[in-house]
Amino acid sequence: MQQIVIPTRTHAPLIDPFQRAITYLRVSVTDRCDLRCVYCMSEDMTFLPRKSLLSLEELDRLCSAFIARGVKKLRLTGGEPLVRRDLTTLIRSLSRHLDSGHLEELTLTTNGTQLARFAPELAAAGVRRINVSIDTLDPDLFRKITRRGDLRQVLDGIETAQAAGLKIKINTVALKDTNESELESMVEWAHGHGMDMTLIETMPLGDIDEDRTDQYLPLSLVRARLERHFTLSDLADRTGGPARYVRVAETGGRLGFITPLTHNFCESCNRVRVTCTGTLFMCLGQEDAADLRAPLRASSDDDALHAAIDAAISRKPKGHDFVIDRREQRPALSRHMSVTGG
Ligand code: SAM
Ligand code: SF4
Repeated sequence: MQQIVIPTRTHAPLIDPFQRAITYLRVSVTDRCDLRCVYCMSEDMTFLPRKSLLSLEELDRLCSAFIARGVKKLRLTGGEPLVRRDLTTLIRSLSRHLDSGHLEELTLTTNGTQLARFAPELAAAGVRRINVSIDTLDPDLFRKITRRGDLRQVLDGIETAQAAGLKIKINTVALKDTNESELESMVEWAHGHGMDMTLIETMPLGDIDEDRTDQYLPLSLVRARLERHFTLSDLADRTGGPARYVRVAETGGRLGFITPLTHNFCESCNRVRVTCTGTLFMCLGQEDAADLRAPLRASSDDDALHAAIDAAISRKPKGHDFVIDRREQRPALSRHMSVTGG
């Protein structure tokens, strides 16, 4: 007699074909944003229809399914996560996984414009650290880079967040001839205010109305320039991501370098990303993706969702293949960073 195999829901850890455990999930909660940073978006963006976005309940189910499979760190991003209505409701709900000990960290990456309003609520919901992106401390240049932002609003947000007890890491994209000469003073500012800082190399994601080869500034050059002012010593700290860290002797602070165009971090990659429409990208630099919205919406139990996650993780590629092509002038990948959230 043939045996009937009844599928049992597996809560086994997510291990990819290269024996990497997936412990870090980034979720984009919206593709919308109140800014239009020149390296990230075009001036006229067409945003997704709201019904294609996962609801807050669906986002909760999706994140919880990954946490059940061993994800320990969850980062909400976007677009701008804090423009998603009722985001704090989702964060409060997800904080149950912090209380149970299954999740170690619940965090977000934000442009800081809404922080003055939301920081106390975030802190109360169990968020301990956040990343705030800011590329310049010059109000005019800030407006130019973001095409509309008010620097004061972000600085006030940072102050409120620190007063609420949130630890902040500053993310700064290094841009050729734009904020290049300001990076030393930004390091001093960040470290002087008790914040770590990470410099990011531009990535060729999405059409942006501008020439990427004009913006591209290799961090090897930035580091050489910083070393004329500071004594940098390499730290062993690794996060499973593309950041390398140094200690700046003069400020005592930690400085990270994210160089996504190099391949040297893929072997320890521990992360996957989900877009606000429920598309799972197994690698930031590859097109292959899996739809998790259909299994989420097909049934109220999570078996189909777990099966789709398993099938996707079994295809996680070994690494990526970014190029900023000087002849083609096209992005290596057509989706915007605001879709996968960086
Ligand atoms: N709106 C939030 C913010 O700006 O922090 C979260 C989303 S944003 C897409 C996440 C990070 O990606 C930001 O630090 C931003 O500077 C960075 N980013 C956006 N486009 C990028 C690009 N083409 N290359 C490198 N970093 C990029
Ligand atoms: Fe918005 Fe962040 Fe992209 Fe700037 S980097 S346009 S703040 S999503």
